[in-house]
Amino acid sequence: MSITLKASDYRRIVEHARACLPNESCGLIAGRLEGDARHVEKVYLLDNPDACPEHFSIPPKAQLEAVRDMRALGLTPLGNFHSHPSTPARPSGEDINLAYDASASCCILSLAEEEPVLKCFRIERASRTTVEEPVAIVT
Ligand SMILES: [Zn+2]
Repeated sequence: MSITLKASDYRRIVEHARACLPNESCGLIAGRLEGDARHVEKVYLLDNPDACPEHFSIPPKAQLEAVRDMRALGLTPLGNFHSHPSTPARPSGEDINLAYDASASCCILSLAEEEPVLKCFRIERASRTTVEEPVAIVT
């Protein structure tokens, strides 16, 4: 179980997260599955309608448009990402409560330190289990 992300997409996620400060930012990731390895091919940067430093939600209309775009490009929805402006890259209690899909990669970018930290997880809400999915940033 692993996930690879292009360096250019990683930079876009970091820039988006910084542009959304002090609030959390969010988005969706799509790409290809290769066994249990996931390759992110496209990142969708979305607005956080909650406009809050501690919450996010994926706006349904933008999600629908993103999923339509994924279908048109033949990409598989892989999961989502959001930022933690001042806390570590670990799922919060609320992140676990909102993890409706245990097969989705839930990626969290922490801006708490000077150097951003990205971690991805699979979250099983019922058992409140989180498993970290190693991320490789590739050029
Ligand atoms: Zn969170």
